[in-house]
Amino acid sequence: MTLDIRGLSKFYGTYQALKEIDLSVGENEFVCLLGPSGCGKTTLLRVVAGLESFEAGEMMLGGRDLATIGARDRGFGIVFQSYSLFPQMTAAQNIGYGLKLRKRPQAEISARVEELLALVRLEEFAHRLPWQLSGGQQQRVAIARALAVEPALLLLDEPLSALDARVRAGLRSEIRQMQKRLGIPTIMVTHDQEEALTMADKVVCMSAGRIEQIGSPADIYTRPATRFVADFVGSSTLLSEARAAGFGILPPRGQSGQLFALRPEDVLVQPDAAGAGRVRSITFLGNVSRIEIDWQGEVILAETHRLPGFAEGAPVSISLQPGAGVWVAP
Ligand code: ATP
Repeated sequence: MTLDIRGLSKFYGTYQALKEIDLSVGENEFVCLLGPSGCGKTTLLRVVAGLESFEAGEMMLGGRDLATIGARDRGFGIVFQSYSLFPQMTAAQNIGYGLKLRKRPQAEISARVEELLALVRLEEFAHRLPWQLSGGQQQRVAIARALAVEPALLLLDEPLSALDARVRAGLRSEIRQMQKRLGIPTIMVTHDQEEALTMADKVVCMSAGRIEQIGSPADIYTRPATRFVADFVGSSTLLSEARAAGFGILPPRGQSGQLFALRPEDVLVQPDAAGAGRVRSITFLGNVSRIEIDWQGEVILAETHRLPGFAEGAPVSISLQPGAGVWVAP
C-alpha cells in the first residue's frame, strides 16, 4: 500500500509547523525524515500516526482517506525514542500485547511472539522485564511489539538516538534488513544524517516545516538542491559565483545567483611555498583528516586520507577533482 500526502499543513495556534508537505511512501519503502531540531519531523510523523490533527491537505493510504480513520484504527506500528515498554510486563508479554487486545487465541499469540523474538534475536530474553534488558534490547522488543500486529505502516521516531554508537550501528542494519524482509513501508525520523544515508531508500530533508529535497541517499549527497541540504548533509564549502570563477567554474546559463557547493573530499590540497592558501586547522578524524584552509579571505574545507604532510599555518595550493561540486539554490 502506498501512503500519499498532498499539500499538508499543520498549525500550532498561529505557528505553522508543517508547510504544504507533499510526500509519498511506496510499498516496501524505507523513508527517513531528516532535519535539525524543531524542523517538524516528529510533528509530521505524529500527523501520519493520527496523534495530531492537520488543517489543510490530504493523506491517503492505499486509496483510503486517513482523515476518516482514528489513530487506533489505522493499525500502524509506532516506536518512540524513549523505551515505552510496559514496565510490569515481560518482553514476551510486551510483544503479545497488541494481539491480546485484539482478542486473538492464546496459541496464535504464543506462536507469533516466538517468531518475533527470533526476528529480533531475543529468544533467550522472553521472560525478562524491561529493566533487566539493555537499551538496545529494549528497543528491539519495542520494534517487535510494533510489528506484532502486522502494521500497514511502521513509524519510528528516533528509535536509536538513546543508544551508544556501537549498538546504534548494529541496530541500523538489523532494522533495515528486517524492514526489507517484511516489506512494511516505514517512516523513520532522525536528525542524524549518517543514519538517514545508511538506512533510507528515500531521504526527506526538512527545514523550518518545509521539505527542502526528497531523493535517494546518493542524490541528496551528490546533488543537493539547496544551500540548506548541501550544508546539513555532509559538509560543504559554499562559494559565490565570483569565487567559483576563480577556479574556472561558471554557473549554467541563465542560473545566476546560485552558490557552488564543494565537498571536502573533492578538494585536493598540496604543500606549496608559493600557494595562495594557508592551513587554518587540521582535525584528525581517524580514517581521514579534515583541513580548513584560509583561501583569500574565505574558508575552504579539504580532506586527506593520509596524515597531511604539513602543519597549521603552512602555505598550500588547492585544486579540484574533475567534476567536483554542484550549483545550489541560495
Ligand atoms: P526534534 O528533532 O527536536 O524532535 P522536530 O523536527 O521533530 O524536532 P517537532 O517536534 O516536529 O520538531 O516540532 C516542530 C515545531 O513545532 C517546533 O518549533 C516546536 O516548538 C513546535 N511544536 C511542537 N509541538 C508543539 C505543540 N504541542 N504546541 C506548540 N508548538 C509545538
